[in-house]
Amino acid sequence: MSAKLQPLEAVLDPAGIVTEPAAMAPYLSDWRGRRHGRAQAILRPRTVEEVSAIMRWATQTRTPVVPQGGNTGLSGGATPDGSGEAIMLSLGRLNQIRSVDVLGDTLVAEAGCVLTDVQRAATEADRLFPLSLGSEGSCQIGGIVATNAGGINVIRYGTVRDLVLGLEFVQADGAVIRGLKPLRKDNAGYALRDMLIGSEGTLGIITAAAFKLFARPSVSATALCGFASPAAALQVLHRLRSVAGARISSFELMCDAEMGLTLALVPTTTLPLGERHPWYGFIEIADSDREADVERILTEVLGAALEAEVLTDAVIASSEAQAQAIWTIRLAVAEANRLAGPSVPHDTSVATADVPALITAVEQAAARCFPSARPLFVGHIGDGNIHVTLLFPKAEVPNAAAFAATAAAVNACVFDIVTRLGGSITAEHGIGHSLVGAFAQAAQPEALALMRRVKHAFDPLGILNPGAVLAA
Ligand SMILES: Cc1cc2nc3c(=O)[nH]c(=O)nc-3n(C[C@H](O)[C@H](O)[C@H](O)COP(=O)(O)OP(=O)(O)OC[C@H]3O[C@@H](n4cnc5c(N)ncnc54)[C@H](O)[C@@H]3O)c2cc1C
Repeated sequence: MSAKLQPLEAVLDPAGIVTEPAAMAPYLSDWRGRRHGRAQAILRPRTVEEVSAIMRWATQTRTPVVPQGGNTGLSGGATPDGSGEAIMLSLGRLNQIRSVDVLGDTLVAEAGCVLTDVQRAATEADRLFPLSLGSEGSCQIGGIVATNAGGINVIRYGTVRDLVLGLEFVQADGAVIRGLKPLRKDNAGYALRDMLIGSEGTLGIITAAAFKLFARPSVSATALCGFASPAAALQVLHRLRSVAGARISSFELMCDAEMGLTLALVPTTTLPLGERHPWYGFIEIADSDREADVERILTEVLGAALEAEVLTDAVIASSEAQAQAIWTIRLAVAEANRLAGPSVPHDTSVATADVPALITAVEQAAARCFPSARPLFVGHIGDGNIHVTLLFPKAEVPNAAAFAATAAAVNACVFDIVTRLGGSITAEHGIGHSLVGAFAQAAQPEALALMRRVKHAFDPLGILNPGAVLAA
C-alpha cells in the first residue's frame, strides 16, 4: 500500500481497503463495459463516521473521490478516469435499514442497501416502496438517489425525487449534514436534499435517505397489448387515464425490433400474445381497495379500444405468474441490448404528446444517415421517456475508435431531434461522463454557469467525482 493511503488503515478494517488489481477490477468498468478507469484503491466504509474520515483525508491530500453504489449506472458516472489518482468509495457495506415507521409511512435506509432489500423491508411492514427498475437486484439507495432514478412506476409515484423526504450526506471536507427528518412539510431554508438528488456524486456522499412509503396494492391487473403505432398507444393511455386515473401504475412502450431481440437473447422471456405487432404496451393498474374491480376496468377499456380499432391485440394476465412473465420481458430489455452488439443508446424525454413525433423523426433520420443501423425504442411512454438505441451490425464496427466517430454522429443527430422538440437528452440515467459534452452544448449558458457556482460551493477543491456532469 502506498504511503499516501496508510493513514486510512487507522480508519477502515482490512477488508475496507482494496488495492489488489484483480479485486479492484469489477469496480473500475461500467455496467455496459464501455468506460474503464484506474484508481489508487477501493475504500469500503461501514459507517458514516468512516465516510467522514475518508473525506477529511481526501480533502487534506486533495485526492479525487468517485462514489459507487451497485455500479449499474448507464452514463459512466461511477467509473473513474484513467489517471489512477482517484479512490473509489464503494458504499455497499453501509447497508442497514435504520427504521420503518408504519404510522408515519416512512423508511430510512443507508446508501448501500440494495433496492430489492428496501422493497422487501417495506413489504414485511405491509407497506409499498414503489420504485422498480430492471437493475433493482443490484442498484443501491445511494445510487438511485444520486441519479434520481425513474423506472416503471413513475407514472403513478414519481421519480426518486418525489419519494425522498430527507437525506444524510457527507460533504467534501468530511462534515456530515444530518437531514434525515422524515417531514412531509419543511420550509426551513434551502432544500439541500434536492441539490443532492440527481447530483451523481459531484456534490456530496449520500449515506442514508428517508423515504415515503405507500399502501400496498391489494388488487392489480396487468396486460400486454399490441398496437399499430405509438400514437395508438397514447390514445389507449388517454382512455385508461379517464377511467382508472391514479390507479395506473405503469404504461410502457416497446417496438417490435426490441421485442424480437429480447425474446431471442434473454431465455427467460416468452411472448404471451398469439402474434407479433409493430408496437407493444405493458400496462398495470392497481388499487389498495380489494373491492376495486381493476380487472373489469382494464378489460372494459381495452375492449372498447379494440372495438374502436385503436388497439390491435391484448392479453390480460390471469395469474400472478402470467403478470410476472409480462414484466420479465419489459425488465430484460437492457440486458438484451447489452448482448445485441454495437449500439448507441439514448435516454430521451419529450412532452408525452410528442413521443410519436420523436420516434418518427429518429426513424427517418436513421434511414437517411445510418441505413445499416436498426432503431430500437422502449420506455416509459406515460412519462414521455423513450430509450432510443441505434443497433449496428457487428461486421460494420472494426474497432472501438472507428465506432466512436459513428456514435458521435448518432448522438448529434438524436440530440438535435430532442432539442428541436424541446426535450431532454437524459430523462433518468443522468449525465455521468458520457453526456458531459452534449450537456454543455444543450444547456442554457447562464444555467450552466450557475451550476458551476453551486458545484464550487459544495466542493471547492473539485475532488468529488471530477469530470462527471460538468467538465472538470
Ligand atoms: C438492467 C438495467 C435496467 C435499468 N433500468 C433503469 C430504469 O428503468 N430507470 C432508471 O432510472 N435507471 C435504470 N437503470 C440505471 C441504473 O440502475 C440507475 O441509474 C441506478 O439508479 C444506479 O444505481 P447504482 O447504485 O448502481 O449507482 P452507480 O452506478 O454505482 O452510480 C451511479 C451514479 O451515482 C453516484 N453515486 C452512487 N452512490 C452514491 C452515493 N452514495 N453518494 C453520492 N453519489 C453516489 C455515482 O458516482 C454515479 O455518478 C438501469 C440499469 C440497468 C443495468
